[in-house]
Amino acid sequence: MRILLLNPPIYDFTCYDYWLKPLGLLYIASFLKKNKIEFEFFDFMDRNSPFLEKKHKNRFFSTGKFRKEKAEKNEILEWFKRPYFRYGLSKKSFYDFISKKNFDYVFITSMMTYWYEGIEEVVKTIREVNRSTKIILGGVYAKLLPEHAKTLDVDFVFTNDVDKIYDFLINNTSIDVKKSYSMYDLIPAYDFYKKLDSAAILTQLGCPYRCKYCAVSILNDKFSTLPFENVLEQLDLLAKMEINDVTFYDDSLLFRKEKHFLPLFKKIVDKRYTFRFNFSNGLHVRYIDDSVIDIFKRLNIGMISLSVESISSRLLEETGNKNTLQETKKAIDLLLKNGFDGRNIFCYILLGLPYEDKEDVMKTMEFLRKKRVRIVLNEFSPVPKTVYFQKYKDIIKDPLFTNKTLFTSLYRYSQNQIQEIKNVVKLFNRETNEYYENG
Ligand code: SF4
Repeated sequence: MRILLLNPPIYDFTCYDYWLKPLGLLYIASFLKKNKIEFEFFDFMDRNSPFLEKKHKNRFFSTGKFRKEKAEKNEILEWFKRPYFRYGLSKKSFYDFISKKNFDYVFITSMMTYWYEGIEEVVKTIREVNRSTKIILGGVYAKLLPEHAKTLDVDFVFTNDVDKIYDFLINNTSIDVKKSYSMYDLIPAYDFYKKLDSAAILTQLGCPYRCKYCAVSILNDKFSTLPFENVLEQLDLLAKMEINDVTFYDDSLLFRKEKHFLPLFKKIVDKRYTFRFNFSNGLHVRYIDDSVIDIFKRLNIGMISLSVESISSRLLEETGNKNTLQETKKAIDLLLKNGFDGRNIFCYILLGLPYEDKEDVMKTMEFLRKKRVRIVLNEFSPVPKTVYFQKYKDIIKDPLFTNKTLFTSLYRYSQNQIQEIKNVVKLFNRETNEYYENG
């Protein structure tokens, strides 16, 4: 039985490697390993892949650029005047790889719902090589848009959690799995990478909040935490691999911190890992206090990102009440007072939310400029199955329309207006850099 686990390429206007890792697929790898089932692994987005003809150097905290080539835009996107790219290893490298093998099963993972063109591409190549290979598609896109996913010429769409993969394989395939495992027993199989600079891990699943634009609670309806031993085992594996940077994909790392973050990170501090810790999924500003800062100060920290969203109380209340201006102010002040470099405090804000005025965005940017922290502008786009998706479903003719780079232009600001706002962000961030560089 020959099995391949596959992370497909990405088609988008822009894409940068902020520790992008196919975590779900690495959990499936761990499950197969525990069941003593052999498989191969092909990651189009691996920036250290031996199949790359040229490697981009790492930039800050082991982030970096992906290999890219110009791509043809689907005709429904023609109106949007920005070049389109295909990111990841070349089609040819994948063709050469699979044409020498005869896979019985290919597991494909997926992330953003507007990245399905990468899946279409790999499915076509797999079919060209061997029509009878069974293709199983899982991941975020499969879970949020299963009906659309079924149109991609795959054999199965797996819409469940890793915990349910055993039942799925027993009922639908001839893969000889012997035992079911829960996430608690599995460790993302990063050791399948020959060389790895960075990794992403999870210590919890889901989020107790219900923001109207967010699909986290749809993807994981229960908020749960992984046992500390499991998290430490994940980190021990990464320490053995001598990686430079770790980030946490948790969406609510600081929630009930007395039970989770504080005791867990005290253990992490005691282990004296040598890698850098990054918090790339915006932390809740509400929970940042002296106890959290005390842990941060004892770790080697790269990036700390904060989920600011906006400083407008009207917008914050409308979207889900996850923080207030006072909480944001307090968290930033505390970090700065304790010597954290504002250039590495990434404050995520949103552009294009329903009911937002341009003024709201400008005021939020001005507030962060004065604090001298880094502004990261995220363009809003409605994620399928969320409350805000319902609001725009009539103008979303295709999942490609939910691309964050274009959605705001579809219903709100012109491309020029967006570019003007982005220029202001660049200017403010440049000022912040200069402030720190000049002492
Ligand atoms: S707090 Fe963050 S992860 Fe949780 S629902 Fe809101 S946006 Fe999503």
